[in-house]
Amino acid sequence: MRLFSFLSSMVLCSLLLVAGPSEAAPGEVRVGIAVRPSLELSASSGKLSVLHQGRAVLSEREVSLSLAGGRVSVRGRVLGDSVKVMPPRGGLIVYGGRSYRGHFEVLAGEKGLVLVNVVSLEDYVKGVLKMEVNPSWPMEVLKAQAVVARTYAVANLGRHRKDGFDLCASVHCQEYRGASAEDERLNRAVEATWGEVLTYGGALAKVFYHSDSGGYTSSAKSIWGEDVPYLRGVKEEFYHRVRSPHSSWRLEISAAEVGEALSGAGYDVGLPHSVEVTKRDEWGFRAVRVAVSGSRGRVEMPASRFRQILGYSVLKSTAFEVRGVGSPSGSGEPPSGVSPPSSRPVRGRVNVRELMEAGLSYDEIVEKLYEAYGILQGDLAPPEEPKGERAQRKTPQRGRSFVFEGRGWGHGVGMSQWGARALAEMGKSYRDILGFYFPGTVVGKR
Ligand SMILES: [Zn+2]
Repeated sequence: MRLFSFLSSMVLCSLLLVAGPSEAAPGEVRVGIAVRPSLELSASSGKLSVLHQGRAVLSEREVSLSLAGGRVSVRGRVLGDSVKVMPPRGGLIVYGGRSYRGHFEVLAGEKGLVLVNVVSLEDYVKGVLKMEVNPSWPMEVLKAQAVVARTYAVANLGRHRKDGFDLCASVHCQEYRGASAEDERLNRAVEATWGEVLTYGGALAKVFYHSDSGGYTSSAKSIWGEDVPYLRGVKEEFYHRVRSPHSSWRLEISAAEVGEALSGAGYDVGLPHSVEVTKRDEWGFRAVRVAVSGSRGRVEMPASRFRQILGYSVLKSTAFEVRGVGSPSGSGEPPSGVSPPSSRPVRGRVNVRELMEAGLSYDEIVEKLYEAYGILQGDLAPPEEPKGERAQRKTPQRGRSFVFEGRGWGHGVGMSQWGARALAEMGKSYRDILGFYFPGTVVGKR
């Protein structure tokens, strides 16, 4: 689901082109909520005010806006390139069944009206946390996640500048649902860490997180070749205290299904007869590279890319062993005489240094990492085990299948949420937790 929303938001982002984006004031975030031919906004109580060039032009409980000749039109009155919509005193603005703090700007874009929620950074963090962490978890985990979310937001301000806002409201940036997603405990965690971000050497840290490392986190270097001093693998000596539902798992999947998934991603190896781990991380724990040999050839790729192809929630992590079953030649060499690889070459390595030298921004590099390695910023298990998944997945009946026996959920980079929970239960503070998973970083005020 995350993958899908990521892709659809990429499409959305690439469609947006807006005239005259304005800058956010310090401490504010401009969040792109929607692009529509027309918009309906209402007040939670009282009346909204529509401002054009600083002057109030309308005050109503409900306001309909539309696009007319490339301008914003309110009730048949064509205004300009943008209008502001202010909430009633002490009230909120409601759009699409959700309520939002701050005010809105409506911009006339080429593809429609662009609805931008202008909100304080702290209120923004309150509007994203619920999608990232379980509000009933220990307060120190919630605080750690609040610092991570705020750091990510500040590091990515201006990511959508060309679209007229800073961050979009989908998982492409961080999923944001405004005041509707607020939770009393999460709000307390945000307030207790007001303005705090994670830094390394005075610069904002690159923050990654996942559900459960399985006992060892990954270094950025082992996964995408970039030596980030505070994204190095750490061993969770306390892992026996982690009570995660993902700490060990088993996946049986038919060779045909693996072959289809690979073929769908452009790697045509035919019917796979072996999946082997050709490289592991510095712990010997997580697979770094995987080779698949089949009736039509062999392909080798980053293990995280292999996981992305099978599905993030199908292959829960890359910390696995592979066992072939149901076949007399389950793990043999490719038959001789088979001509080599797939129909499409395996995508090349991402050289982060080269990309930086070429002037790419952090988020552009993260997008490249995603394309090549399937690495998400936050790699989380759904709140509940997806019900249909096991049912939908036909238990392989005939032919060869592979068994993956694995540990943890997610890419393993940065903070493990289940590990953080165990640390909090051991009496550690959010600063201890962040210091453990991002060694050498400092929590500081923005
Ligand atoms: Zn975005």
